[in-house]
Amino acid sequence: MTTTRDAYEAVIGLEVHTHLLTRSKLFCGCSTTFGAGPNENVCPVCMGMPGVLPVLNRRVVELAIRTGLAAHCTIAPYSIFDRKSYFYPDLPKGYQISQYETPICKGGYIDLPPTENGESRRVRLTRIHIEEDAGKNIHGESASLVDFNRSGVPLIEIVSEPDLRSAEDAGAYLRQLRAILRYVDASDGKMEEGSFRCDCNVSVRKRGATEYGVRTEIKNLNSFRFVEDAIEYEVDRQIAIVESGGKVAQETHLWDPARKETRPMRSKEYANDYRYFPEPDLPPLIVPAELIENVRASMPELPADRKARYVREGLTEYEAAVLLADRDVADYFEATLPGLKNRKAAANWVMTEVLRVARDSDKPFAEAVPPAAEVGALLRMVEAQKISLNAAKTAFAAMVKSGKGAEATIAELGLAQVSDESAIAAAIDKVLAAEPDKLAEYRAGRDKLFGFFVGAVMKAMGGKANPKVINDLLRAKLAG
Ligand code: ADP
Ligand code: MG
Ligand code: ZN
Repeated sequence: MTTTRDAYEAVIGLEVHTHLLTRSKLFCGCSTTFGAGPNENVCPVCMGMPGVLPVLNRRVVELAIRTGLAAHCTIAPYSIFDRKSYFYPDLPKGYQISQYETPICKGGYIDLPPTENGESRRVRLTRIHIEEDAGKNIHGESASLVDFNRSGVPLIEIVSEPDLRSAEDAGAYLRQLRAILRYVDASDGKMEEGSFRCDCNVSVRKRGATEYGVRTEIKNLNSFRFVEDAIEYEVDRQIAIVESGGKVAQETHLWDPARKETRPMRSKEYANDYRYFPEPDLPPLIVPAELIENVRASMPELPADRKARYVREGLTEYEAAVLLADRDVADYFEATLPGLKNRKAAANWVMTEVLRVARDSDKPFAEAVPPAAEVGALLRMVEAQKISLNAAKTAFAAMVKSGKGAEATIAELGLAQVSDESAIAAAIDKVLAAEPDKLAEYRAGRDKLFGFFVGAVMKAMGGKANPKVINDLLRAKLAG
């Protein structure tokens, strides 16, 4: 059944603002630490006092270049900073220092994971530029207060071309972008702390049309859920307007997560309104080729390269994709590997046991799960046949609860596997002596009874015997 909605296509472009992982702010030495008391991380520069001068933080430039290289952008050898003027209480200078006509990175793209039917998708980037964050207004009952801790914290804004076609695509793009930022250590991508947030530009057009429709911009969304819900809502709203013969107004909207609707905040402002002009207090930003090469040489392995390596080393595409979806998980997987032969077993363990524990916990991944080294120790014991796979699962569950290490847990729970041949041989003798009829049947050709004997010996050993030793000894005994 085709619905009205199917006759339309959504067109979406995202502007992502993300804090960079620097210790100090963009133009002063103040700390960027999140969670300090109100106005503790401030100085005359980031409070916008008259007569102060900004000094560019070199680390910001390096992290912007890192991000640009990871997203296949062209790095501009020369760019300038501009003043973007507007009035708001959280902006003490009355202008924000940003980059307008000459961003530090141009072009580039982000590849999304292939869709279920194997389609690859590439989202083109327009630009990445450097700018400073504003402070934060806090509205109380009798007064509004301003906290300037965030004022001057370095941001990059990553602008995509209008290449996205659904709320789901937008979510996939944001997840991929966030993963890349985290892999290159440019940003922690913490949405709940506001260090990764996004403006969504949304329009609709009749399927097959070549011109874009009029767009609205939904400001400042700070969760994947909000982005997806807001786009869904906005696409439906715009289709309804067009269907009823109306025109979509070019407006800036806010998402109300409680009422699940967008509300117009103001009519959209245009670049002219901001009176952009080159920042007179900062020299042009010159990026020598040598700096770009140094940054390139120091780049960590990117998710796409890591995926290719995992597959080369024997994992399936699917396993690699699951592990790499979150850098913490991929790093954890790698930290279990030293001394292990079987990477696939480790991958399996992380994907099932470890991720289950992480999912069931409210804590961040690293705090929710036992240390990777301890899981590595557990897997090495399985590989050396000191414990069975089942014993490892029991031990793991206990380790999650107690926080104790692998060795201690195995010892405490008496899970060590018995490989002692004389003890196992004695158990075999006892079982065979107790089952003369079965033994005769086996000797007469009922091969299937072999499994019965293995089970009986295991039972006699309290489930802790090494199955391989039982097999070998039993086979030798029955052949003799
Ligand atoms: P502004 O500076 O006013 O925000 P830009 O031209 O820089 O406008 O575009 C900002 C974002 O809007 C980009 O991500 C771009 O892809 C997106 N965009 C532009 N036109 C449309 C459209 N018609 N529909 C949806 N998104 C659009
Ligand atoms: Mg915009
Ligand atoms: Zn400061």
